[in-house]
Amino acid sequence: MSAVFTGRCLCGAVTYRCGPPVLAPSLCHCESCRRASGAHAVAWATVARDSFTVLRGSVRPFKSSPPVVRQFCQQCGTPLTYSNESWPDTIDITIATLDQPDALKPLEHIWMEDALSWDRPADGLPQFPRGR
Ligand SMILES: [Zn+2]
Ligand SMILES: [Zn+2]
Repeated sequence: MSAVFTGRCLCGAVTYRCGPPVLAPSLCHCESCRRASGAHAVAWATVARDSFTVLRGSVRPFKSSPPVVRQFCQQCGTPLTYSNESWPDTIDITIATLDQPDALKPLEHIWMEDALSWDRPADGLPQFPRGR
């Protein structure tokens, strides 16, 4: 697996770099991710916080729920990261914004208790009612 990944938002104003995942990549079906992304689930990779660097452009932070900060492209609104003050050493990045999205395959479904009635993954991956 490549040691360094790169990614960008839809409009290309923001580009970033990050290190390899430190936990199994996951698909989150929680309501916050759903509303923040406009999608039924979001694929996340957890990387070391100090490995995440915005190379170009500016991100807009939004405190979605008290200890949680989500960052979006200031121009086009693409969701890029999720961080939680409870885990200061890591940050989650949206796998779908990577330049190498196929390199990181989600290995589990989390927050299935929030999943929509028509969102019933049949890919055989483990499913958890909440977070890890
Ligand atoms: Zn953008
Ligand atoms: Zn979520």
